[in-house]
Amino acid sequence: MTTAYLNGEYLPLTEARISPMDRGFLFGDGIYEVIPCHQGKPIGFDAHMSRMREGLAALDIHSGMTPSDWLEVVTALLEKNTSFIPSGYIGVYLHVSRGADTRRFHAYPKDISPTLFAFAFELAPPPTPDINKVRPLKVSLAQDKRWQRCNIKSTSLLGNVMHYQHSHQTGLDETILYNASNEITEASSCNVFAVIDGKVVTPPLDHQLLPGITRQIALKALPEAGIECHERVLTLEELKGADEVWLTSASKEISPVVEIEGQMVADGRPGKRWLQALQAFNQVKFSA
Ligand code: PMP
Repeated sequence: MTTAYLNGEYLPLTEARISPMDRGFLFGDGIYEVIPCHQGKPIGFDAHMSRMREGLAALDIHSGMTPSDWLEVVTALLEKNTSFIPSGYIGVYLHVSRGADTRRFHAYPKDISPTLFAFAFELAPPPTPDINKVRPLKVSLAQDKRWQRCNIKSTSLLGNVMHYQHSHQTGLDETILYNASNEITEASSCNVFAVIDGKVVTPPLDHQLLPGITRQIALKALPEAGIECHERVLTLEELKGADEVWLTSASKEISPVVEIEGQMVADGRPGKRWLQALQAFNQVKFSA
């Protein structure tokens, strides 16, 4: 049985209990992170901590945890769960909700303690840097119906869940989202990149998308490897005509998309730029 962390204690995940009055449960009032770890090594730990700090500040939640406190939790969960996850690809989920109140009332209560929760789970193996061996992704498209604070990594994920289900129920891997102006925002649980005229394009950060840590690492690693990248508006039309499309996330790293709504991306095979990008990412990921 995997071991989890709850409010300062380590215990079997199945024995972890919180109050039904927890505002995370009632309102989705909380922040979370997923830190990918390979063979005991976290990827982008400091960047995940910065994003978590910003999310908590936006919600005025005070976790009382420092990055080194969280590193202790991550390290302990990796140690305690290694034997249950022999592949060594582990995601550590960190979660801070505002805590349990005595009544259900929308305004932030004063003087309640946040609920701190973390657990480890097996990540899908990262993409193989080989055009012939990587598992390429097939996706659908949908108009983005989520709220206007998608830059906050909030536990209120129903919009993302519904968008994900839209593709999952038809056997597809993800749903790429576009706004009312037909501009790509992101996917339900990933950021989106396209290759247009040999250049890598990804939508700029704003309230419409999560500042993905994999995106951040890629945007540093690719130019260092000589690959030109642009953070700019990416239209739905451009996406449909792109030479390559990729999705990025903690578990997918940089993964190639070969089909969008049943239409092949270019020749329907992972592209050369993708391979270069993944190789560049792999070179720096443990030092990012
Ligand atoms: N966008 C959304 C909506 C996400 O949930 C995620 C994380 N799964 C990402 C982008 C990618 O972020 P990261 O690279 O930090 O995993």
